[in-house]
Amino acid sequence: MNSINKEIMADYVIVGAGTAGCVLANRLSANGKNTVVLIEAGGRDRHPLIHIPAGFLRLLNHPSITWGYKTAPEAQASDREILFPRGRGLGGSSSINGLLYVRPFTADIDAWEASGAAGWNFANCLPYYARSETWQDGQDARRGSSGPIQVTRVSSPPEVCTKVMAAGKELGLEMVDDPNATTHGPSIWFYQQTRQGRTRSSAARGYLWPITSSHNLSVLTDLSAQRIRMEGEGSQRTATGVECRRDNGQTVFVKARKEVILSAGVIGTPRLLELSGIGDTNVLDNAGIRTQVPLGGVGNNLQDHYVTRLCFRIQGVETANERSHGAALAKEVAKYLVTGDGILTYSAAVIGAFASTGLADRSDVQFVIAPGSFKEGRIGELEDKPGLSFGVWQMRPESRGYVHITSNDSAQAPTIAPHYLNTPLDRQTVVAGLRIGRELAKQPSLTPFVVGETLPGPDADSDEALLQYARDNGSTVYHGVGTCQMGTDPSSGAVVDANLRVHGVKQLRVIDGSVMPFITSTNTNATVLMIAERAADMLLMQTHYPA
Ligand SMILES: Cc1cc2nc3c(=O)[nH]c(=O)nc-3n(C[C@H](O)[C@H](O)[C@H](O)COP(=O)(O)OP(=O)(O)OC[C@H]3O[C@@H](n4cnc5c(N)ncnc54)[C@H](O)[C@@H]3O)c2cc1C
Repeated sequence: MNSINKEIMADYVIVGAGTAGCVLANRLSANGKNTVVLIEAGGRDRHPLIHIPAGFLRLLNHPSITWGYKTAPEAQASDREILFPRGRGLGGSSSINGLLYVRPFTADIDAWEASGAAGWNFANCLPYYARSETWQDGQDARRGSSGPIQVTRVSSPPEVCTKVMAAGKELGLEMVDDPNATTHGPSIWFYQQTRQGRTRSSAARGYLWPITSSHNLSVLTDLSAQRIRMEGEGSQRTATGVECRRDNGQTVFVKARKEVILSAGVIGTPRLLELSGIGDTNVLDNAGIRTQVPLGGVGNNLQDHYVTRLCFRIQGVETANERSHGAALAKEVAKYLVTGDGILTYSAAVIGAFASTGLADRSDVQFVIAPGSFKEGRIGELEDKPGLSFGVWQMRPESRGYVHITSNDSAQAPTIAPHYLNTPLDRQTVVAGLRIGRELAKQPSLTPFVVGETLPGPDADSDEALLQYARDNGSTVYHGVGTCQMGTDPSSGAVVDANLRVHGVKQLRVIDGSVMPFITSTNTNATVLMIAERAADMLLMQTHYPA
């Protein structure tokens, strides 16, 4: 950036007002002493569909509220470019996500510590899950009752849900009341949502709205971070601030007295590091950027959950489809406005299940069960006729992909290559998961109501046909993580240490979903909230784990 139009300064400069950035802005400014600037490329979270839970279905490819990313075509996913939504604007992805609140398995977080992320075990992290939430049923040993994020049970699910729950039990899944407080064997349960009454409880609403008038916090929207400015050489290299640009060309330098914190998410954070010359030398050379800090792991280790949906035609019991058209929909809208209830408070799914294919030592597929069926089997518009859909995804895929810039033009989207289905185990697990879904639909409590399987349909009977269906139709379930993984050894791909400090640069941290060394078995938002809560404590208390 040649000339700077404006310069401002704060103790902490946070890039990205998504799930993690909102937590940090709140916690770091709470003592009234630290000054904090929060920089967000998108706008304020004013769009009404952000706040209506079911609005999620209409926002996945929104031109200004998302980044419009697509994956690179990859052979294992039939060379398709798959929409890879990421939120843009206050709340980030928490403003457009499916609202499903699911904590990880104990072993998921313990594996982080075992891989070199000192201190990141489940027992240490549990208090931070509780701190971030207000759970509808109140506090207990695991759950919180005074956090900014409201966590609520799904209200008034359609009748087909009781049949699915009973079918799950018949299949041998344990019916669980609170999946976030129990162990994680094969089980079926109603999802909990980040929702308060009729509205989404995003990170922005929970953490940012109450403090927007704080004297020591500045929230700068429609301002895009372009480059981290650094000074000093070798081991003394230090981040001093962030160069930013507005759409009108105005440039702003935000100087950090204490630290620069990157919370720009699984795509935005490695992208900004690479644009700043921090990353793999080959990648940077190819993009025409001079390497300032060689750090081979930046952008690698991309992990995600790849979902494939089975759809069924249903009769004789109420589903969401009938409630989503014509006069019934008008009634639902009125109900929502008057009581804050009904199908407009649903989001991605209503029932969830953990199941075991036998290919791993514990549950290895999650079902996202919607009491309705979508056109072409893809999440979005509901079909006119009654239906049911079971999305299934492998919880701990082996495949690892990457996100890298290909140009020094900060306006150009990076290449996103998730490498879905790249290992035999991942392919076998998806096929086995689809077969479990079929078994679920054949249980006595459901068979009277299932007219037939519409997708992929009974003709897709062989493993090959099911795999081909998954390749042709699967998509992200939006849980991309891992592109700046925590660990001790940069030569083995670690980007940040256990204190979330970028290896080789002082006063620069990454605090968002990109630091996860391994993806959680479950949905990721609860864990990103936890990471940011814990990191804020580390910063405020100056806790440091040995490098
Ligand atoms: C469509 C969708 C559905 C999902 N559904 C669920 C769900 O139901 N349950 C669940 O647990 N998880 C879900 N997730 C995942 C979950 O929401 C994410 O894991 C979590 O929000 C990630 O938080 P983050 O802080 O890492 O990044 P984000 O929340 O994505 O925040 C990154 C922020 O940084 C900003 N930014 C990026 N680059 C720059 C830049 N250069 N300058 C300034 N700002 C920048 C972005 O605009 C964004 O606001 C979903 C995600 C999506 C996208």
